Amino acid sequence: MSKAPVPRPGILDIAAYVSGANQIGATVTLKQLSSNEGALGPSPAAMAALTAMAGELHRYPDGGSTALRQALAKKHGLDAARIVCGAGSDELIALLLKSYAGPGDEVLYSQHGFLMYPIGAKAVGATPVAAPETALRTDVDAMLAAVTPRTRVVFLANPNNPTGSYISAAEVARLHAGLPSDVLLIIDAAYAEYAEGRNDYTAGIDLVEKFANVVMLRTFSKIFALAALRLGWAYCSAPVADVLNRVRGPFNVSLAAQVAGVAAVEDSDFLARSRAHNEAWLPWMTEKLTALGLSVAPSAGNFILVRFPDTPGKTAADAWAYLSERGVLIRKMHSYGLAHSLRISIGPEEELQECLRLITEFLAA
Ligand code: PMP
Repeated sequence: MSKAPVPRPGILDIAAYVSGANQIGATVTLKQLSSNEGALGPSPAAMAALTAMAGELHRYPDGGSTALRQALAKKHGLDAARIVCGAGSDELIALLLKSYAGPGDEVLYSQHGFLMYPIGAKAVGATPVAAPETALRTDVDAMLAAVTPRTRVVFLANPNNPTGSYISAAEVARLHAGLPSDVLLIIDAAYAEYAEGRNDYTAGIDLVEKFANVVMLRTFSKIFALAALRLGWAYCSAPVADVLNRVRGPFNVSLAAQVAGVAAVEDSDFLARSRAHNEAWLPWMTEKLTALGLSVAPSAGNFILVRFPDTPGKTAADAWAYLSERGVLIRKMHSYGLAHSLRISIGPEEELQECLRLITEFLAA
């Protein structure tokens, strides 16, 4: 084979994102508590809508995702013209970075923030900068102290994956107030629906309505349980929406994602059941693991970060191997610099029971 062309500087510094899950066929046998997917399977209404559109697969979708944006606008009381849909929030993260950061620029995020922030920053030649956390929580003072004249984009995942922590509405406002107005603040609210019951929580809509430099990102991959379809959306000011609409592909959201997305948004019963499942099983799993002597970080998402002992034979890596050999896949945290911990998604009851049974057995062995 001849030599391949060399990519732009920095591209080969990227360690590829490895989810370690969901190969076709494997999904049937494995209990997958590794990717924070919806615990109840997809909404029946979304599945019906998907089946009903199969005869239209030869058509291009609506490039503007109009019906979906209207459904989202109605549900949240937003301006549909300032919603932009994407192939997962991952695509929107990449498009925002492509539009607002480049070589010489810095992209700021909190230590243990979602991996796609540094990956996306490097992909556009920008420099990712991680501000230190305090007790596994975004530290607004540390974030503001890390801002330099080169900072172009700031990411805040609220709640954050993989720590599960969130910062209060007042803290989010303080972070925004401390940033120069030409810096874009991206509030990634992928897990908002799990945190919304808390009265000091905001997904950021209030800030987007007031400030042109704030973007809120949401996804259909978590509580709406449509991860396979790749669907996310941004709510932002008109100028930022205009930029995203210029750089995105003309048909970036599939017809399947659009029709299932509309049905899922309108299925409030499914949303309520999913939230109730999480509200019951997240504290249950937290308590059971704590009772086993493990340390579990408080979580406002649909997953928990569990710290394992450093004792040889009982480490997180040992536990991960023990569970995966027995058909339960949870998430290793090496790439987040949290190798002593594992992240467990709050999946279906029987998978959680099996996961707990195996961890109990592992610790006792
Ligand atoms: N943001 C955060 C904080 C996430 O945890 C995830 C999913 N792991 C995403 C964004 C990406 O979600 P999507 O499936 O919409 O691309």
